[in-house]
Amino acid sequence: RFITFEGGEGTGKSTQIARLAERLRSRGYAVVTTREPGGSPHAEELRRAILSGEAKKLGPFAEALLFARARQDHLEATIRPALAAGAIVLCDRFADSTRAYQGAAGSVATPLIDALERCAVGETRPDLTLILDLPVATALARAASRREGTGAGEGADRYEGEALAFHEKLREAFHAIAAREPERCVVIDASGDVETVEARIAAAVEPRLGH
Ligand code: C5P
Repeated sequence: RFITFEGGEGTGKSTQIARLAERLRSRGYAVVTTREPGGSPHAEELRRAILSGEAKKLGPFAEALLFARARQDHLEATIRPALAAGAIVLCDRFADSTRAYQGAAGSVATPLIDALERCAVGETRPDLTLILDLPVATALARAASRREGTGAGEGADRYEGEALAFHEKLREAFHAIAAREPERCVVIDASGDVETVEARIAAAVEPRLGH
């Protein structure tokens, strides 16, 4: 099964992915965790280009192309082999992020986003997408405190300095995706402590695993 995690900056995706992976492994499932942009050697190279700031200067359409190419490689090298081997794949961001960031917030036209998605993703669509949802102010406060707490990492999320309106657009875009594909998408309330959110996620995932 292919499970993706989506949401804006500071919604806690990576923490929750690690916890869900541990939970599923303890039940005996084989789990592969991965992330975008990146997740395969070539796509990790593209990640560096994408996050260096150079791609942002080229604009959202060029970024969408880079994400699509990285995603194609990630699917080929990492995701499809893991699924074929019977693992549950947990992926931090996937095509919905391109729809939200470069599409809705970056104004790349929907038919272009659709076409890129068809080319890059083909038939390997997520079985389940968890959209971690938080009010923008809460999410940005979390992202800022995480940065202070950890001493940088990869630095600020690329969009942390954007106007609130940008983040509101992203949040709306994820809600719109969930409304359009209610079978695939579950919006998870990402407020509250880590354990509470973990339990909400487990309640969404476990019934879909069949036992
Ligand atoms: O998952 P994480 O938030 O660490 O993603 C790395 C950065 O790439 C973030 O700043 C995110 O907003 C950005 N991103 C993007 N477009 C995508 C996926 C991620 O701008 N399609």
